[in-house]
Amino acid sequence: MISEKMSVMVKNSSVTRAMFEEGKRLAAIYGKENVYDFSLGNPSVAPPASVKEAVVDIITNEDTTFLHGYMNNSGYEDVREKIADKLNKVHQTSFHSENIIMTVGAAGGLNVILKTLLNPGEEVVVFAPFFGEYRNYADNYDGKLVVISPDKETFLPNLKELEEKLTSSAKAVIINTPNNPTGVVYSEETIKELSKVLEKKQQEFGTSIYLISDEPYRELVYGDVFVPYVTKYYRNTIVGYSYSKSLSLPGERIGYLVIPSEVDEYEEIFAAAGVATRILGFVNAPSMIQRVVASCLDSEVDVSVYNENRELLYNSLTEYGYSCAKPQGAFYLFVKTLEEDDKAFCERAKKYNILVVPGSAFGCPGYCRIAYCVGKSTIEGALPGFGKLYEEYREETAGR
Ligand code: PLP
Repeated sequence: MISEKMSVMVKNSSVTRAMFEEGKRLAAIYGKENVYDFSLGNPSVAPPASVKEAVVDIITNEDTTFLHGYMNNSGYEDVREKIADKLNKVHQTSFHSENIIMTVGAAGGLNVILKTLLNPGEEVVVFAPFFGEYRNYADNYDGKLVVISPDKETFLPNLKELEEKLTSSAKAVIINTPNNPTGVVYSEETIKELSKVLEKKQQEFGTSIYLISDEPYRELVYGDVFVPYVTKYYRNTIVGYSYSKSLSLPGERIGYLVIPSEVDEYEEIFAAAGVATRILGFVNAPSMIQRVVASCLDSEVDVSVYNENRELLYNSLTEYGYSCAKPQGAFYLFVKTLEEDDKAFCERAKKYNILVVPGSAFGCPGYCRIAYCVGKSTIEGALPGFGKLYEEYREETAGR
């Protein structure tokens, strides 16, 4: 007998599971190469060669008892120092190892910080469309998710609604830029405006509202798009970072939290986050890969591959008549569905062996997410189907 809470979670996760099962079913009938699965954010670009070199070097040359052993719950001191130095060099910040906690990916980091901050019933504010797992993460600690409705013109945060909906129970606001699922990047102006609202509300309520910047896609931007480092604009910012996408290492489960010394109650929060890491059962982030990422801090994946996919998919779909904002980062396209019922649209796309995720999974019905972290042949193979799907809807509308 599973818990009531888990029963709900299992039911809610069935969209993704059903998609996975459907992919397998279609592949068995039509062959894997004829199924166009755009449902998962699993990087398609290989990790940089430096990762393999570092693995081999570390495994060959480091003391294995040390390498595979337990450590401080917040991670290896020298790894955290190196990460802090790198951040300082890139963003002109002044972090040190006592601002960094190594985590089990971004998901682990978000759970650690929400466990650290939330009392039951306290609010976690998110901007739709948002990464659907935030709902579960807030619920894990009996937090209450408050959803700000989407600005469907720009997909930038709706700050007017934020101001209206923030209450004295708001403990955290989560932003994610570059964004999953829209690919939108928040400009410096947007971050400044957001900060102003939060500052004002902190003063009004006499509380601390922590801005959690979830940044697994920070390095995945196209052209010379600038991604502001949020701690420089709002004092109570905590950053969650991950190497899942920036080094294509999602299975290795490695990332970190940045808890700046300037945040309210820094010492308590930093100490508690270390305890949260342990008591959530992570104990510490995986040891060997901590050392690997520390020696690959100047490496990056080949973003030009994602860029080619982005151009091909965006140009082709908009040419057919689909409408979507051109993503500036991450590897997702958020496309308006050709009927209001996004689930029905995604269901119909399967007729052409195309698997995409309904926008309602991100709190934004009427859209679907296409993850273009796939081989180019998947996009090329899917395009005729996208074209036919568009025609099908057009003819239906014309025939009405
Ligand atoms: N946050 C966002 C916005 C994501 O898209 C993802 C993964 O896709 C995560 C967090 C979790 O990342 P990780 O694999 O590093 O836990």
